Amino acid sequence: MKIIVCVKVINGELNPFDESALECALRLSDDVTVVSMSPLSAKPELERLTRLGARVIMISDALYAGSDTLATSYILSETIKKLDFDLILCGRQSIDGDTAQVGPMLSQMFGIPVITNAMSVSADGGKISVSTRSGKEQAQCPALVTVERGYVLRFPSIFSRQSEIVPLSNADIGCDAAKCGLAGSPTRVIKTFENNRGRRGCKFISRSELYPLIEKLKKENKRSETRVQSDKKLKEVWVVGNEVLDAAHAIAEHAVLIEKTTPEAIAKRAKLEKPEVILWNADPWGRKNAPIAAAILNTGLCADCTELETDGKELFMIRPARGGRVTAKIKCLTRPRMATVRTKTQSAEIIVAAGRGAKDVLDKVENFREEIGAEFGTSRGLVDDGKASYERQIGLTGKFVCPKIYIAIGISGAVHHTCGIEGSGTVIAINPDKNARIFDYADYGIAEEF
Ligand SMILES: Cc1cc2nc3c(=O)[nH]c(=O)nc-3n(C[C@H](O)[C@H](O)[C@H](O)COP(=O)(O)OP(=O)(O)OC[C@H]3O[C@@H](n4cnc5c(N)ncnc54)[C@H](O)[C@@H]3O)c2cc1C
Repeated sequence: MKIIVCVKVINGELNPFDESALECALRLSDDVTVVSMSPLSAKPELERLTRLGARVIMISDALYAGSDTLATSYILSETIKKLDFDLILCGRQSIDGDTAQVGPMLSQMFGIPVITNAMSVSADGGKISVSTRSGKEQAQCPALVTVERGYVLRFPSIFSRQSEIVPLSNADIGCDAAKCGLAGSPTRVIKTFENNRGRRGCKFISRSELYPLIEKLKKENKRSETRVQSDKKLKEVWVVGNEVLDAAHAIAEHAVLIEKTTPEAIAKRAKLEKPEVILWNADPWGRKNAPIAAAILNTGLCADCTELETDGKELFMIRPARGGRVTAKIKCLTRPRMATVRTKTQSAEIIVAAGRGAKDVLDKVENFREEIGAEFGTSRGLVDDGKASYERQIGLTGKFVCPKIYIAIGISGAVHHTCGIEGSGTVIAINPDKNARIFDYADYGIAEEF
């Protein structure tokens, strides 16, 4: 079986999801080709992969700089067209952008089936069987699979030799320049800024005040957050599924509810009726199917928007950027403009969320959670460390929650996390670092170890 693995090198290191995809490929076949669109600085990391027995193709050209997900998928597809393959594997997402768009877009460009978020993959006679968190799926090859962080990439054998990587530029690949780099990228960052949304005035309290405070808050009926309404509105937007209706009403006079059928059917209707905007819920279904529709419609898609704004003409899509240090305001130059939007999950009355700082006291957190009758939540820090499951992750790429009381234990308060707790009635943070960002987003703080 001939397998292509698409990988991204971020700050000199292989994206962890792509490491997992590569290990999955090496277990399935000894005919593995790694394809990476990377700056020249990625070369040493890519060369390392040749010691695992993979052939490595590095795509690099000044023309490709500034490519968004649509342009990246196009460049990768033009490269892979020159190769023979049965299966393409991608990591579920890259840890810098976290859009999870390239895999589904690439599958659309080849017109092959895609299965996302694979925990494990097996192959038998031209057919693949994939286990995902929601069950088992099968597909006939050629197919594309995006892989979770379920596999640990092997170390090279001490007898292995490093071989040359194959460098390709646009002279070899022959992409249409208008579809590459900034010119071929329909999404544009207009500005980045510090976002104070969700900030609360923190009152520091002592440990002994915690239980009486929880009892008092339980009796109150405080849940906050409604979407910010734009003064001027767009005439009409499409929403795929009713979860995003409130986001649509915040920016448009009228919302057309589109049934969740297939991305092909939705794109076909959009080609005929030419909507200005299509909004999708940023749940696993939307994250898989919106990129496919975007690739069919050849339009820009902004992932995981936390807010939408309009001046009555333009649509501004807002999401954290640069590792969460800033918020980016993004617009889309093509039509329809598309976004996946974060929506709130119905939450328990109380959530106790543990972060990386609580990793050694998880038993204690669990007892506390049970004692006050709360649900368990977590930060990505703890998920990344393998101490909590992704289903429990709260934040930009997890769930957006709205409990009466949110108690964050050992969480630093990165914007990716705090944007997911803005809907909480009262936030209590426990962290020994009094300067931790989480306290700016809490109503009450206990500056102590848990
Ligand atoms: C595109 C993208 C999307 C992301 N999506 C998410 C997301 O959905 N959700 C999410 O959470 N993150 C997300 N992240 C990651 C996010 O930026 C942070 O890295 C992550 O939230 C950090 O987790 P943490 O607060 O548990 O760990 P850390 O940042 O390591 O913080 C641990 C904290 O614990 C405190 N501590 C230490 N010891 C104790 C103790 N004994 N008791 C109490 N406190 C203690 C420390 O002072 C520290 O503040 C995303 C990142 C990117 C780039």
